Amino acid sequence: MTSLDDLPIRDNLRGLSPYGAPQKHVRVALNVNENTHGVPADVADDIVASIAAAISQIHRYPDREFTELRESLAGYLNEESAGAGLSAEQLWAANGSNEVIQQILQAFGGPGRSILGFPPTYSMHSIIASGTDTAYITGQRDAEYRISPETVVREIARTEPDIVFLCAPNNPTGTPVGLDTIEAAYDATRGLVFVDEAYAEFMPTGTPSAVTLLPGRERLLVSRTMSKAFAFAGARVGYLAADPAVIDALRLVRLPYHLSALTQAAAVAALRHSAEMLARVDEIKEQRDRIIAELPALGYSGWESHANFVLFGGLKDPHATWQRLLDEDVLIRDLGIPGTLRVTAGTEEETTAFLDALARADGAE
Ligand code: PMP
Repeated sequence: MTSLDDLPIRDNLRGLSPYGAPQKHVRVALNVNENTHGVPADVADDIVASIAAAISQIHRYPDREFTELRESLAGYLNEESAGAGLSAEQLWAANGSNEVIQQILQAFGGPGRSILGFPPTYSMHSIIASGTDTAYITGQRDAEYRISPETVVREIARTEPDIVFLCAPNNPTGTPVGLDTIEAAYDATRGLVFVDEAYAEFMPTGTPSAVTLLPGRERLLVSRTMSKAFAFAGARVGYLAADPAVIDALRLVRLPYHLSALTQAAAVAALRHSAEMLARVDEIKEQRDRIIAELPALGYSGWESHANFVLFGGLKDPHATWQRLLDEDVLIRDLGIPGTLRVTAGTEEETTAFLDALARADGAE
């Protein structure tokens, strides 16, 4: 049988593994930080009507500039981050924020260039770096997975990257990154600063987003996704807010018509219901805080999380506990961080199922 090693694959892809969170059919799936509440019926009806209307023109290529979607996204962010004053020219979208990140590295990374990331962090950042032949440099975090302004400045001076990658809040730890750290990073580099805000909507109410830092900072890029707060993981819509010149650079590498007419119609319709979707986010935040509050009684402790998941520690054998939960049809995530597992906050029932199964698993140190 032919193996990858027999193929003339690029040297920097040799020996790598693809992104591989298990996709199993289980009763309670809390492993990939999805929004398990789903799309409410009235929102779904509106989306279906919009898709039906788009079908009448499906024989034509879609709007290559997805203008209506960019206007909707700008409106959404401006409502959230008052004062950002974003125009549609500052918005970009793609099939998931993973694709946005890939386009950023196609345009600004590549052979001879580097990004500085701060593991443990979102694994796709380094995988997309490999895919675009961009060097990935590992920065050192502070204790408890934090990154202070001093630390980010020190790591930038030490490594001189072309792009600084900050994940705020960070996956898989849930920990926040302060705006002071993002500002310090920006001032310490002549390169780009990319902030992955996939989970921004789950931050405590009133916490400012890096979007508020965009005015006057043409090298700052902030990505978001509809996969989490908008329960739209299956639709594949991620987006970026940045200077119009950055968006122009992405046009050089995107494939023409990369966002289908159906995707555009569905996303514009979903954004019309942002208030209803954000009310669901509040319910998820309650379940996240409940997990953190209830873990100590079971012998574990969770890190403070500004996202829709919790990393918790105090496990004797994380993989054994992960398996015990799976035996009860509860799937969470083992990221290989010693002594820890990560769980997504689900509905109240799912969260109860997780906590009950964890109590029975008896895996505390
Ligand atoms: N960034 C982070 C930090 C994530 O956790 C994820 C999804 N797990 C993504 C980006 C990608 O999301 P999507 O491609 O679905 O927008």
